Amino acid sequence: MKTGDPSKLDRLVAEARRAAEKREESYREQALKIYPWICGRCGREFTHASLRELTVHHRDHNHDNNPPDGSNWELLCLYCHDNEHQRQLEATGDRTNTRAEGSVATHSPFANLRELLDGKKAS
Ligand SMILES: [Zn+2]
Ligand SMILES: [Zn+2]
Repeated sequence: MKTGDPSKLDRLVAEARRAAEKREESYREQALKIYPWICGRCGREFTHASLRELTVHHRDHNHDNNPPDGSNWELLCLYCHDNEHQRQLEATGDRTNTRAEGSVATHSPFANLRELLDGKKAS
């Protein structure tokens, strides 16, 4: 008998990552269509050759907020993008590590019951 399937978890993680990458690619593509390839801070211009140094910044820092009109996007070069997030961290204080991690329930009252049932089914 098999308890848990690690390969399934791996697959789910990989799928979630792929979905996130796909989403990122699609809003990036849209943003690059809407806006000129210029950094919104320092004014540096980009070409196809240097385009990977141009990033899409979310004005409200919510990567799930991607209105099709591009109102939440801003094209920034890597350096200015870095600065932008640095400023945000300083403004809010670094609270990124205190996200409700303690609220995850690890206790399962049925763990033993499961084991008993599984044990009976096997053989
Ligand atoms: Zn810049
Ligand atoms: Zn950003």
